[in-house]
Amino acid sequence: MLPVNSGSHTAYQNFVLENLRIYYPDPTVFSKSVWDIIERFWLLDLSYTDELLRSKYSVLGPKPRTPSCMQCSYLLSIDFKILSLPDWAAQLKIPPLYAILSVFPFGDTPRVGTFYDFFHRLWDSDPDNLSPHIHPVKKKKVKKPKSKGTKADSIESITVEQLFQSLEASSFSIDDQPYASLFKIYTHEFLTLSVSKGLIDTSKLSIAGDCTPVVTSARERKHRICKCADNGITDCGCGRFFSQPDCDIGWDSSRDCFYYGYDLYILVAANSESDLPVFPLLNPASKHDSHGFLETYFRFQSFLSDFHVSKWLLDSAHDAMPYWTAG
Ligand SMILES: [Zn+2]
Repeated sequence: MLPVNSGSHTAYQNFVLENLRIYYPDPTVFSKSVWDIIERFWLLDLSYTDELLRSKYSVLGPKPRTPSCMQCSYLLSIDFKILSLPDWAAQLKIPPLYAILSVFPFGDTPRVGTFYDFFHRLWDSDPDNLSPHIHPVKKKKVKKPKSKGTKADSIESITVEQLFQSLEASSFSIDDQPYASLFKIYTHEFLTLSVSKGLIDTSKLSIAGDCTPVVTSARERKHRICKCADNGITDCGCGRFFSQPDCDIGWDSSRDCFYYGYDLYILVAANSESDLPVFPLLNPASKHDSHGFLETYFRFQSFLSDFHVSKWLLDSAHDAMPYWTAG
């Protein structure tokens, strides 16, 4: 069956109000921080997610969980700092509050697999990753910088100028990206709302760009798929199987350590309240800032073409000639 959202955001508010009255007649049981979360979700209208994902469900079979409820519940797990999905699925069964705010009847909450199924529907591509699982080991590795608190040197195979020219000649369409649905949800439910409330002025943006490490596992997971080692060749150049092929090893300059995962490059509106996010992009952890910025910038320009930037705020890691000449 197709998912049903009866009555959009007002239905959400009515459900929450009704159930809070039943399970929590004394409002003082919640701390201020819990009330802050309740208030945020009370105002957060996620009904567009149901509209967008409708076509991704089958008309046959059992009635699925409402996509906006799954999204709401996942966002709640982040706010309540229960960051493991199995833990969250277990917690949904214990205090009624989590189920109520997710709009699940208390005692009838989704299992962890339902969350994975929901995430699968958010991704617009058959492969789960952008890169293939099997690829050769990178010859160049990020090296530990000589002094503390500094960023690692670039190991990119092309110069900033070459990357700039190749990206300038490329065209990006959001509908071709595996993250198209995620981007549409983000713009529709968050970014456009910030613009319509006057929190972000798209006619004269001051954009700051920087990256932050996203750790996905404690170590790199890869294994051989060739027989070379059996024949005594241990340093062959054959491809290896990587469990997370879009991730690699990078240097976290603020914690002075190597890490495995992504480099999240994020553009924020520096002239808005609280530096609101405008456009994020995940790159492999080894991506140098000067390259990460360009990858992000050209996509930002294509996907949010009505955003006009008057000022760029970037740190010294971005100090490369094409930035000055392009400005
Ligand atoms: Zn081999």
